[in-house]
Amino acid sequence: MEKYKLYSPKVIKELLQNHGFRFSKSLGQNFLIDGNIIDKICDGAKITEKDNILEIGPGIGTLTQELCNRADKVVAIEIDKRLIPILEDTLSPYDNLDIINDDILNIDLIGLVKNRFHNSEVKVVANLPYYITTPIIIKLLEDRVKLDSIVVMVQKEVAQRMNASPGGKDYGALSVAVQYYCEPEIIVNVPKTVFMPMPNVDSAVIALKVHRSPRVSVDDEVLFFKIVKTAFGKRRKTLSNSLSTGGLGIEKKDIVRILEKLNIDPKRRAETLDIEDFAKITKEIYNQYY
Ligand code: SAM
Repeated sequence: MEKYKLYSPKVIKELLQNHGFRFSKSLGQNFLIDGNIIDKICDGAKITEKDNILEIGPGIGTLTQELCNRADKVVAIEIDKRLIPILEDTLSPYDNLDIINDDILNIDLIGLVKNRFHNSEVKVVANLPYYITTPIIIKLLEDRVKLDSIVVMVQKEVAQRMNASPGGKDYGALSVAVQYYCEPEIIVNVPKTVFMPMPNVDSAVIALKVHRSPRVSVDDEVLFFKIVKTAFGKRRKTLSNSLSTGGLGIEKKDIVRILEKLNIDPKRRAETLDIEDFAKITKEIYNQYY
């Protein structure tokens, strides 16, 4: 079903020239030019012919083409309206694809899954625009769409943060948020050279397998994430200092009392706590103050 190999730099240059297209740096437009990496992304997502795929930022359709080859149905959301006629051209052979010209951050994802995928489970697969990687991941997880997994190319450093365990410098609020909802696995590290134009940073493909229910149970998710953010907000401070000065409205002596009750040393820093520790603190604060 392939019209041509869209990842070929020669084909991309010709296409862009014919359509008078110039890359937008501010929209994070770094297009893939390596077929092996496209295969690794699709293999990482374990795509089968029964799968529903949501792609964010199809660009000129390089990854989209392989998604359409492998999956049952693909919906691709592209913000840049200049790319729509190009996509309609490059992907014209495929009848299992819907292209939507919109901003992923403004989309009603629950409605989209209902209307375009008959409410069945979806796999997100994308080479994400790096300027909004974290907001996109958080939206996908917090909107509680029926997701099987998210397999995305992101900046290497962001992949390491999502995958980090307690104790290291990469571990932070993003690690806890992602691991609350998902099991992360870095599929492959990717050099700058597989993109056109070449970005300044290295990349990685990460797979986030979404848990059936969150990894820990908390009475109040909003409070849980507020505590995590507050604890890491001043990551060099001890827990008793960060949690008593970060807007939770609880005095230091009470934070110390709560932590000691839970056998958590108030002098510890947020980066030493695992997700279960954060859940225990949330439970205790919830019981005492809410
Ligand atoms: N998938 C293509 C590839 O791998 O060659 C392009 C990936 S490029 C890194 C990111 C794409 O996301 C661009 O096409 C860009 O226009 C699009 N994009 C940027 N911000 C977006 C947003 N808020 N919503 C949807 N698409 C967006």
